[in-house]
Amino acid sequence: MIIDSRLTFEQAIEGTTATKEVIDEMALLDVRYYGLDGELHQGQIMVNKNVEKDTREIFDIILETRFPINKCVPLSVYGWSDDASMDDNNSSAFCYRVIAGTNKMSQHSFGYAIDINPRFNPMIYVDGRVLPQNGVYDKSRPGTLLEGSDIVKAFEGRGFLWRGRNRQKYDDLHHFDKLIES
Ligand SMILES: [Zn+2]
Repeated sequence: MIIDSRLTFEQAIEGTTATKEVIDEMALLDVRYYGLDGELHQGQIMVNKNVEKDTREIFDIILETRFPINKCVPLSVYGWSDDASMDDNNSSAFCYRVIAGTNKMSQHSFGYAIDINPRFNPMIYVDGRVLPQNGVYDKSRPGTLLEGSDIVKAFEGRGFLWRGRNRQKYDDLHHFDKLIES
């Protein structure tokens, strides 16, 4: 098995600007998946404890259905740069930050949002811009999220919203989040 990430909890939160109260809600999960190389990989994802069970179940489905994940590495490795992580086609969850282009905190800040293969499932703005810039949405490519697919259903069946459709300014094809009052 190929190890993509094996951090301690301390390493996985190193450098975050999140408060202790927020950090105390997080859990660092080991997850297994098939990579784009067809090999079994182990990575890590940091999520809120309130969605730990959901996340484990979703990754069980990702593994069983052999939906490929490029890599799953906590954002501390990218210096908390969402752009760097997206460019690297990295799947992740916790990142204490605002929503790009706004001063509103993202659901990623509280570990309630999960991004999957962002290069294959980019943000597509109504004016045609794509983020990450190296992103291409090719519906025939394995690792791509599609309406009604096993992975989208796995998230939606557990109360997550897929932000990949019907948005005003952009479709955020890699992004799922669960709204929880905490
Ligand atoms: Zn996201």
